[in-house]
Amino acid sequence: MCRGPAVIDVRRHNANFCAEHFVRLCRDQTRKSIDQFAMLDPGDRVLVAVSGGKDSLAVWDILTELGFEADGFYIGLGIGEYSDESRRYAERFAESRGLSLEVDDLLRDHGFDVPNGSRAAKRAPCSACGLSKRHLFDDAARRGGYDAIVTGHNLDDEAAVLMGNTLHWQVDYLGRQMPHLPAANGFPKKVKPLVRLTERDTAAYCLLRGIDYLVDECPMAAGNKHLSYKAALNDIEVDSPGAKHAFYFGFLDRAAERFAVPTTDESGPPVTPCERCQAPSSNGVCAFCRLTERATAAVPIEMGRTRRRAKVAS
Ligand SMILES: [Zn+2]
Ligand SMILES: [Zn+2]
Repeated sequence: MCRGPAVIDVRRHNANFCAEHFVRLCRDQTRKSIDQFAMLDPGDRVLVAVSGGKDSLAVWDILTELGFEADGFYIGLGIGEYSDESRRYAERFAESRGLSLEVDDLLRDHGFDVPNGSRAAKRAPCSACGLSKRHLFDDAARRGGYDAIVTGHNLDDEAAVLMGNTLHWQVDYLGRQMPHLPAANGFPKKVKPLVRLTERDTAAYCLLRGIDYLVDECPMAAGNKHLSYKAALNDIEVDSPGAKHAFYFGFLDRAAERFAVPTTDESGPPVTPCERCQAPSSNGVCAFCRLTERATAAVPIEMGRTRRRAKVAS
């Protein structure tokens, strides 16, 4: 180990690190995941799903440092001040590094935002949000000819999702919980290079690299089960450092294959272009276009006003 002043202890590695070696550790762990799961090939053009939080900015920074051509894609979800602020962090980072960031906006470009759209479509906000993000990232990757979509999911995220999927034995989800989903059926490859880093690691990485990020969590996610699984795993980790890593990587090493579903172009229902947006779909009109239709059919606030005014007039 080095003689530099320690800035962080990483209990699951049973070691203290100075700033320089910690930054190197984060890059090395990311490189290791990319290699172990054959996530990216040299020369791959990648599109990073950027939220303005620590994980997406850290993965964008690390991939750029590792020599990948990585552009960013940000989606404004219309979640009040949270969305405005998160976009500013994403834009500021891109500017400071001279990186290219495309900004899409649900309300401006698709006619609804997550709070009102999910209500109108009678969907949970996180489900409408996840569906929209997946669709728009896939679409952006196809339009831009990117080889892969990169997300900033870290070990805490993946272990929490695994815990939820295991508690409820969601075998379909377990079959797709790999950090590398190959391209299939017109959908681009999706990879999660930060699966060896925890939230604490990515926060420390950003601090040491001078990356300003939005600390607040999405206000719509409050009360989300995912957060309670994270808290439970953090409690376990206190007494058993490395438990999260063992849980998730043990699953990948010894169990994931048993749940794997084939992702070749021949498997599953036939895929045809969506009648409205041309995205691959197994259902005539894709799920995002159906959500858009329902979410824009009623604009609740405006309708309420009109109705009230009509009553007063009569
Ligand atoms: Zn050191
Ligand atoms: Zn569509």
